[in-house]
Amino acid sequence: MVKTRFAPSPTGYLHIGGARTALFNYIYAKHFGGRFILRIEDTDLERSLKAYEEDIIKSMQWLGLVSDEPVLYQSQRLDIYKEYCKKLLDEGKAYNCYCTAESLEEDKNKLIAEGKKPMYSGKCRNLSDEEQNLNLPHVVRFKTDRSGGGKFTKFKDLIRDQSVSVNHSEIDDFVIMRTDGIPTYNFAVVIDDALMGITHIIRGDDHLSNTPKQVLLYEALGFEPPAFAHVSMILGNDGKRLSKRHGATAVTQYKNDGFLPEALINYLVRLGWSHGNDEILSLDEMIQYFDLKHISKSAGVFNKEKLLWLNAHYIKQKTAEELVSLINDININNINNENNNNNGEKDKIIQYGENVAVLIDALKPRTKTLVEIKEKMGFYLNEGNISYDKNLLSEIDKFKLNESDNNEYDAHSEHKESAADEVIYFLNQLMDFVKNLQLNSLNLNGAGCLNFIKESFDDFFSKNKWTLKHKAMLIRIALTGEKISPGIYEVIFALGEARTLSRINDFIEFVRENNDRDCSKAIT
Ligand SMILES: [Zn+2]
Repeated sequence: MVKTRFAPSPTGYLHIGGARTALFNYIYAKHFGGRFILRIEDTDLERSLKAYEEDIIKSMQWLGLVSDEPVLYQSQRLDIYKEYCKKLLDEGKAYNCYCTAESLEEDKNKLIAEGKKPMYSGKCRNLSDEEQNLNLPHVVRFKTDRSGGGKFTKFKDLIRDQSVSVNHSEIDDFVIMRTDGIPTYNFAVVIDDALMGITHIIRGDDHLSNTPKQVLLYEALGFEPPAFAHVSMILGNDGKRLSKRHGATAVTQYKNDGFLPEALINYLVRLGWSHGNDEILSLDEMIQYFDLKHISKSAGVFNKEKLLWLNAHYIKQKTAEELVSLINDININNINNENNNNNGEKDKIIQYGENVAVLIDALKPRTKTLVEIKEKMGFYLNEGNISYDKNLLSEIDKFKLNESDNNEYDAHSEHKESAADEVIYFLNQLMDFVKNLQLNSLNLNGAGCLNFIKESFDDFFSKNKWTLKHKAMLIRIALTGEKISPGIYEVIFALGEARTLSRINDFIEFVRENNDRDCSKAIT
């Protein structure tokens, strides 16, 4: 049975490069009806943090990449590594090294000065029993086979489809057990992968230099090596390895920025693998089609625009109710995050209802992230007064210009002293119109109500010989304080009669106040 694993160290948040590796391992195993396992490599006690471990596990769950067996922790397996270390020592395949850090440093600098590759000298390789003193601090080194001169270790890389061959003269007697009894990375990985029965290891090509050492250990321990597949890195748009300099790299950050897991895994799978020209792939489709043959040999370049495009696609597939639940989930996540100090509408939990559904359905086709949906609903979530930005006043002048261009204002010439007066006159008419709609007593469903508002608006505008397109921006600003919002019928429906009227009233006050102030300035 095919068995794969993802083995991150909890020394940072789950990186999207790591998430892609996990995804490849997951879908590869599932393609063959096999199993996928998560292993936490937490032997670096100083740098490993519980918070990172939780983040990794939560992020994997969020992406839908769930371990088929209980999560394995290396820190709970130290006795197992010790046992295998003893086995290698007993069989003469490893040895104790008593060299101090200072003497090793000295040897290293000497080799560098001579222009040679820094490698362990082998000083302790052949110590006699009398020369050993286990009470002294010591590490355990692997005794790389140097018999017969030019020995090679080979392994096959499934992605590059070629054998990699490394001369043993390139591999020094590497440490497998540290002074404190903690195994080194390569040693613990080999024992775990072998005992877990891992058949295929798909990982970043930054591990290529570890693989020959691991193959040597498999052989020394009497285990069958698994198949290896080394995937090219993800690069930023400047051709350098993707890092924080390029923007968000943590899966959690993408979640908090309003991305859907479907979009992220779809994006990641295409960043290094292809199935013809298919851009949109569900997890099930990935499992069905995945193969190592179509993994790219060159590095993938991260492209946020494409990720946003996919996210917009998956947002459109969700119902308004699902989107509310997803948006609230981000919010709860942020509240739990002590570093978060947003106190405004951003933190509000959205109560799902018909008003919200109408707004979200209006926003859904033109938003790219969940956060964007919530931001565009700010006018609705804000239950108090809106503070209007003074920059919006320039819209009032445009209003006047548009109207005179259109000549439609002649019918009301007695009301137009200034653009502000025209705006106030119009808004008062709008207030009367909204009152007459009697939204509270309508017995219509959402769609019916929207239709009623639209038809009533059409009547109101044609009766007054106005055109909606000239006034839509003004109504939008009055009701939302923004130049971009869902359609004004949806906005009125969502706000309801009382809030709609009070906002128009507030905006009239705002226009009046600012107009007076401008006049008084002109006089003095
Ligand atoms: Zn030594």
